[in-house]
Amino acid sequence: MENRRIVIVGSGPAGMTAALYAARADLKPLVIAGFMAGGQSGGQLTTTTEIENFPGLPDGIQGPELVDRMRRQAVRFGAEVWDKDVAKVDFSSRPFRLWVDEDEVRGECVILATGASAKRIGTPAETRFWNKGISACATCDGALPIFRNKPIVVVGGGDTAMEEASYLSRFGSRVILIHRRASDIMKKRVQNNPKITIKVPYVLEDTLGGKLLESVKIKNVKTGVVEEVSANGLFLAIGHEPNTGAFKGQIDLDEVGYVKTIGSAVRTNVPGVFAAGDCADKVYRQAVTAAGAGCMAALEALRWLDEQ
Ligand code: FAD
Repeated sequence: MENRRIVIVGSGPAGMTAALYAARADLKPLVIAGFMAGGQSGGQLTTTTEIENFPGLPDGIQGPELVDRMRRQAVRFGAEVWDKDVAKVDFSSRPFRLWVDEDEVRGECVILATGASAKRIGTPAETRFWNKGISACATCDGALPIFRNKPIVVVGGGDTAMEEASYLSRFGSRVILIHRRASDIMKKRVQNNPKITIKVPYVLEDTLGGKLLESVKIKNVKTGVVEEVSANGLFLAIGHEPNTGAFKGQIDLDEVGYVKTIGSAVRTNVPGVFAAGDCADKVYRQAVTAAGAGCMAALEALRWLDEQ
């Protein structure tokens, strides 16, 4: 059995930044980096290519390289990293208990940084065009050259989809927003933007192209008629799934599964358990905000350990 002062679950920007701060404070953190649950070790950035909006990197950087650098930086100061999943936890008493394969790990405090996964539609060629025209993040990818002055399709009907469509209209030649049904939010939010067209009631049928996405097939669910529309970009805004299944019943989660934070924004309802990054943030979902929250969680954890 492992006994640690601080255990960090997740190795994306939030987990690795928390590990860096905890390691530099000589706490020798254990990072349970993830293996299969919620993506892979390194988190969402390992699934993308060019990152152009992480400060301090004027020439951009590949996503996997950025998280690898974060990991090496934390390890340099004494963090230990296990590329394994946490299967279940018991936060009912201290030290907190976490199960990793057959091992039990105990931590005086825990930082949850397990991220979230963008929901996918599951059309036949979705995987083929992922990062080659298909994205789940307009803020991350909208400004890339492949979308400039090109037709873009956004799928989704909630607030996020409206925001993504508005943001993408800065770059694309036009934006078609498709959804099963029209909502008042949809109409209000985008009606004054001449570049955005709303198409309801439509669903996405397929994605087509060569090396990159070139068009999508959409179906009118009322008439059954399928049409093909040009699209160099397809942005899915159909929600994210926080990777918090292992913590259910042990900590307060909202109705979707995001960790509920209180006060300082990284504290949870269990004193000594903190949460950082996309597992607790449904608004910003950026590498830099996740890293910032990881720093906050580590500083709060240090303070909390000192108080005990
Ligand atoms: P994540 O990066 O999701 O990391 C979560 C970690 O938790 C992973 O290591 C995972 O393996 C681990 N984990 C999950 N469950 C368990 C478990 N049970 N046990 C142990 N470990 C577990 N942001 C930008 O700022 N700029 C961009 O250009 C950009 N591009 C993106 C492109 C794509 C395709 C995607 C998907 C996202 C992009 N983002 C971008 C968003 C950015 O990747 C996220 O906001 C950021 O990675 C969130 O960091 P995180 O540490 O909170 O979570």
